[in-house]
Amino acid sequence: MEILNEARAVYSEIQAVRHQLHRCPELGHREVETTRLIRACLEEYGAEVLDYGFPTGLAARIRGGHPGKLLALREDIDALPILENTGLPFASQTPGVCHACGHDVHTAALLGCAKLLARRREELWGDVLLIFQCGEETFDGAAAMLSRGLFRDGTPHAVVGFHCAPDLPLGTISIREGIANASCDSIRLEVTGKGGHGAHPELCVDPVVLSAGLLMQLQTLVSRNNNPADPVVLTFGEIHGGTAPNIIPNTVTLRGTLRTLDNDVRRRHLEAIAQIGEDFCRTFGGSCTAAVELGVPPLVNDPESCRLLHRAADRVLGPDCVETGRAPSMGSDDFSCLLEECGNRGVQFQLGTAQEGLPQSGLGLHVAENIFPDEALLPGIALLTQFALDDLSPNR
Ligand SMILES: [Zn+2]
Ligand SMILES: [Zn+2]
Repeated sequence: MEILNEARAVYSEIQAVRHQLHRCPELGHREVETTRLIRACLEEYGAEVLDYGFPTGLAARIRGGHPGKLLALREDIDALPILENTGLPFASQTPGVCHACGHDVHTAALLGCAKLLARRREELWGDVLLIFQCGEETFDGAAAMLSRGLFRDGTPHAVVGFHCAPDLPLGTISIREGIANASCDSIRLEVTGKGGHGAHPELCVDPVVLSAGLLMQLQTLVSRNNNPADPVVLTFGEIHGGTAPNIIPNTVTLRGTLRTLDNDVRRRHLEAIAQIGEDFCRTFGGSCTAAVELGVPPLVNDPESCRLLHRAADRVLGPDCVETGRAPSMGSDDFSCLLEECGNRGVQFQLGTAQEGLPQSGLGLHVAENIFPDEALLPGIALLTQFALDDLSPNR
């Protein structure tokens, strides 16, 4: 409970930072003011801001008093293109952009943790790399920071972080050992036929009808080709084509997302989507080209980090505050890219943010009305700090 008390002591200061972040949300890769604020806080707390030249996002290091391992703590800092409707006094002042995924809570909690760890640096056997990641919602921020040398001064032995969970009670967390989140890739299918007059389909190859048939055919991949024990989601959220009801267009574009919990299943489906697109459209005299934008791998939490985190949670939050039986989510987080880079050592846990008596805190992620209560900062700060202290302790 000692760390929780230290977190309480910095709470009002970190709460103010959180409100400032929440008021000025910025979309992925445009987090300029957010990055500036994070830098100012870290410099004040005595963490060493690393000059890695990221356009947005930031890394900093807390050098321990003794030599040892390097542990990474990561939170994301970007907002969403949603018009906030929470009614909070510190609501977004940027129309159409808000922190509806709780990343302002993530960022502020990691700042609070940085403040506590910087004070206790003499106790650390090793260093902490603090990662304030840009562009999580765009699924490319982790990759962008890695490609610019995020780990240039050493690959961390593990990476740890959390995400807010409006479906879990405040004061509890969820730790899922093994697979926790799905992979996510984007697919773009360009269906080409032969355009012409809507009254003379016999002279055309209609890409609209081809696309309709292809969409249904692709869904049978999940229901007929896939092992039902391997969860797969294939969603096409965009169809673009045509200019008038009586004109058959030349092309139709479909854009979708594939989610899987396994890299082999992922690869097989991506190949099959392209193949079925090509074969199906050729059967009816058209053609189809597939472009895959590889996103993020599945997120896999390693058992050892989960055990250490569970122990830290028992100490900080008290017993019975950890849920371990949560089903994997088909949602994705590019935390998995950092995990993969660290040899799949580390864990992302879910931090409960549903507050009793405040139904608006249980609506869900990416919901304009959802409120992430300030009180979630306390367990967030305390747990990240306790984990780092335990992980970098000589008698672990
Ligand atoms: Zn999100
Ligand atoms: Zn998020």
